[in-house]
Amino acid sequence: MSVTILMYHMIATPENAAEARFCRTPEMFRKDLEQIRVTGYQVISLATVLDGIAGRVELPDKAVAITFDDGVACSYENALPILQEFGCPASVFVVSSLAGGYNDWCGVFGFSRRRMLTNCEIRALAESSVDIGSHTANHLWLGKIDKTVVTKEVRDSKAVLEDILGREVPHFAYPFGSWNPMVRNAVIEAGYMGACSTMSGKNLGGTDPYLLRRSEIKGSDAPWQFRLKLKFATNEMPPISDARCLARQTLKKMGLI
Ligand SMILES: [Zn+2]
Repeated sequence: MSVTILMYHMIATPENAAEARFCRTPEMFRKDLEQIRVTGYQVISLATVLDGIAGRVELPDKAVAITFDDGVACSYENALPILQEFGCPASVFVVSSLAGGYNDWCGVFGFSRRRMLTNCEIRALAESSVDIGSHTANHLWLGKIDKTVVTKEVRDSKAVLEDILGREVPHFAYPFGSWNPMVRNAVIEAGYMGACSTMSGKNLGGTDPYLLRRSEIKGSDAPWQFRLKLKFATNEMPPISDARCLARQTLKKMGLI
């Protein structure tokens, strides 16, 4: 068995070049879900992914999970209606201290100031088909800070989100994909059942549940690039010009042009 986990950030129109990579437009996101459907993939929840890699359940041959990092309000405003249209489960990883606030940590990267999910929207997502996971309290580089702060970040965010939801928050995603063995242990000790990294690749039977692999869907990914990521769970794709060049060379070798 193998599962691709897709990683999105914002489902929104980019407002500047800096955030373009992280913004998939709602139109493109709808096309992604259409591709998933027409290629015969079944969208499963992260809990089912964890059950599958642990051998507790058998997964469909073509399985994919959908995740969104950060908890920007567009997860509720733009992503949720499209997910519901296609009947797909998903997970949103929320930065707990920013609920009801703004994406202030993104300012240094040149992103637009965007509204984050409110407590009410977090509850509404959880009541639909979207699981809420933790993305720490303050979106820090966990791999670069000491254990006391790491422990506080992973525990506080879990407690705050569980207070908002009145239910367990079993999943976690490492901000910036930053982790090390100490960070991974802190996530386990805080009581999480699984954690998403930003390392690409398929999730297989026996994959470390605290280092789940994800394929990043960028704002600029064309439909053909999305299809390849879905199938191979890779991150880097050749630019279109490279692919055209390769195709031309192959056709020349074959004497077709
Ligand atoms: Zn993040």
